[in-house]
Amino acid sequence: MAQVAVVRTVKALRKVVEGWQAEGRQVALVPTMGALHEGHLSLVDAARRRRARTVVSIFVNPTQFAPTEDFSKYPRTFRRDRAMLTAAKADLIFAPMVDEIYPDGFATTVSLTGPAQAGLEDRFRPAHFAGVATVVCKLFTQCRPDIAIFGEKDYQQLQVVSRMARDLDLGVKVIGSPTIREPDGLAMSSRNRYLSPADRTTALTLHRAMSAAAQRLRAGEAVEPTLEEARATITGAGFRLDYLELREAVTLLPVSAMSGVEARLLVAATIGATRLIDNIAV
Ligand code: AMP
Repeated sequence: MAQVAVVRTVKALRKVVEGWQAEGRQVALVPTMGALHEGHLSLVDAARRRRARTVVSIFVNPTQFAPTEDFSKYPRTFRRDRAMLTAAKADLIFAPMVDEIYPDGFATTVSLTGPAQAGLEDRFRPAHFAGVATVVCKLFTQCRPDIAIFGEKDYQQLQVVSRMARDLDLGVKVIGSPTIREPDGLAMSSRNRYLSPADRTTALTLHRAMSAAAQRLRAGEAVEPTLEEARATITGAGFRLDYLELREAVTLLPVSAMSGVEARLLVAATIGATRLIDNIAV
């Protein structure tokens, strides 16, 4: 089978995308950092189900990593990614070099409030969403897709990007797609490969504690005691817990009681040297 085509410049990207749009095809962008797994492929699938031509970008974005984080050791598996995207029937890979995204003298950043300042990921990764939003804004204006598909796995990111696309009239419809999990419930992540076998077993506690708490909240149990118990379960299993919070699903504002609002339970915790995030609808 011929491999899915790869472009590395905005000029080449636009030529292909504009050709599709001239034929009346919808174009979907799926931004990724590579090291692909079934979760990423489900986003390609979601685009294909909408009958869109699908561009997958692969770019490990330096500006969304703090100096202490794993940018240099982030897994880079381009050959395997390309084979997976070929099998998944993606239409194009956009894999820019760093200076295609950040030219010499780059001096512009998207500035965010609202869901980007909810006190969740932003509290522990203060520069993260500015980096994400800036690169996503650039990918949108470089590719000019009709739609873009993001995973609910990175739930705060999904809300930040949706808000930005609306606020800045980027002309791209942002669509969220459900989290794909391992058979035992662990949310798939490129970082799961860092887990030792023991930590991989412990990691299960995260989804189990979240699911149990969500079920109790749905049944009408009080919010704070239910969250406290889930927090205790998670730290008891050996995690260092950054947060476990119940939030309004779109604004990410705190929810103190279940009163008909659409709510989301969000968690971030570290086991060994691996920080995991997850979330679940309540
Ligand atoms: P990343 O490569 O980690 O930046 O992720 C690229 C996109 O894939 C983001 O929109 C993520 O939310 C999404 N994604 C990552 N893991 C999953 C998963 N397990 N299920 C669904 N989407 C995911």
